[in-house]
Amino acid sequence: MYAKNAWKKYEGNAKVVFDFCEGYKDYISVGKTERLCVEEAKRLAEAKGFKPLESFKTLKAGDKVYAINKGKNIACFVIGKKLVEEGLRVLGAHIDSPRLDIKQNPLYESNGFALLDTHYYGGVKKYQWVTIPLAMHGVVFLKDGTNIEVHVGENDDDPVLGIGDLLIHLAADQLQKTGAKVIEGEDLDVTVGNMPLKDSEKDKVKANILAILKEKYGFEEEDFLSAELEMVPAGKARDYGLDRSMIAGYGHDDRVCAYTSLMAVLDTPIVEYTSCAILVDKEEIGSVGATGAQSKFFENVIAELISKQGEYSDLKLRHAFENTMMLSSDVSAGFDPLYPGANDAKNAAYLGNGICFNKFTGRGGKGGANDAMPEYFAKIRNILDNANIHFQTSELGRVDQGGGGTIAYILGNYNMNVIDAGIAVLNMHAPMEIVSKVDVYETYKAYIEFITKL
Ligand code: MN
Ligand code: MN
Repeated sequence: MYAKNAWKKYEGNAKVVFDFCEGYKDYISVGKTERLCVEEAKRLAEAKGFKPLESFKTLKAGDKVYAINKGKNIACFVIGKKLVEEGLRVLGAHIDSPRLDIKQNPLYESNGFALLDTHYYGGVKKYQWVTIPLAMHGVVFLKDGTNIEVHVGENDDDPVLGIGDLLIHLAADQLQKTGAKVIEGEDLDVTVGNMPLKDSEKDKVKANILAILKEKYGFEEEDFLSAELEMVPAGKARDYGLDRSMIAGYGHDDRVCAYTSLMAVLDTPIVEYTSCAILVDKEEIGSVGATGAQSKFFENVIAELISKQGEYSDLKLRHAFENTMMLSSDVSAGFDPLYPGANDAKNAAYLGNGICFNKFTGRGGKGGANDAMPEYFAKIRNILDNANIHFQTSELGRVDQGGGGTIAYILGNYNMNVIDAGIAVLNMHAPMEIVSKVDVYETYKAYIEFITKL
């Protein structure tokens, strides 16, 4: 069903939508970092009988397998009736979200306060990140290899952290600045203390914070060098709207597509083609490095699958990719009634109209886009219409207004068919993003159709 509101289909039966979304709310409330998203995905997969790839000597139809890369990617597979070299059905989403990362030499004292310096990650409107409660999540690796996990700000009795802004009474100069400059990157420093340590000589407030870090967590100032600490909005995802039709939360981009992709694969036992949900890191900064979509991790895992189904060859691997069909499961920009001018209304994504396909994203004449094949999208339209799934298509805003990235073209480079398909989000990249519950459920259903029928 193209471009029609999906709630109508669930009249009298909305409970199935609301119940599914409770699982998703739990997922993003726990998954505040890419590492936590992987851990939670692993837990969900194991609960459904998935086992680590290395525990299989050979693979047969119906086997449920997962592989984890450096704690930041996970790929879950249900082995199909056909051999892997005949192609897979892949749902790929990213689990990194915009945030503020603690710098490697972050801690300083100024005018009686201890602060931590940050460097923002991904595209953020910096002014949105001040005067809100922030939590800190991450890891600190000691020289001996010990991993210390840090989680502060989520429990009711935890303190929260935050970033200050100038009081309105004295902001005459600040308010003359443009939105991009009103809060500057180097001013996104997190306040962590204001109480001096007795008997310390200088920087007494900083000394007190260091004493707390040592006592509570067991690390020292120099250990920030090998830490990965992320400042994110504190608190759980919540229902949004008096009708509870939406979810307000941090990190919908793109954990909402990660969760729906993951659950589609976990909930679908045996299929014709091997199904896969892969969750990747680093999309927000270009999909680079060992844990981004450009990593060889995925290729290596597919090679392992082939080798566990018989004789491995490079040609089989190439065939596997070429025969694969993929959805780049990523969010789209929802049409905002307060800012209608940012979109071409007839090529925009509306909350409530179901899964959204972007034939292309990119910016300025489709730059950087994966421009999907129309033959491919025709097949997808057919299976969705046959299953009465609500779907819509959109562009990422008006021509020349801006744009966005994707992992689609990276997998497209393997000569597989890929199209961007996911959930419309309001306030994208803000500390509080919004999605429609019916879109979350309809997208999950669409992903199941994709892996079972295409
Ligand atoms: Mn995204
Ligand atoms: Mn994004």
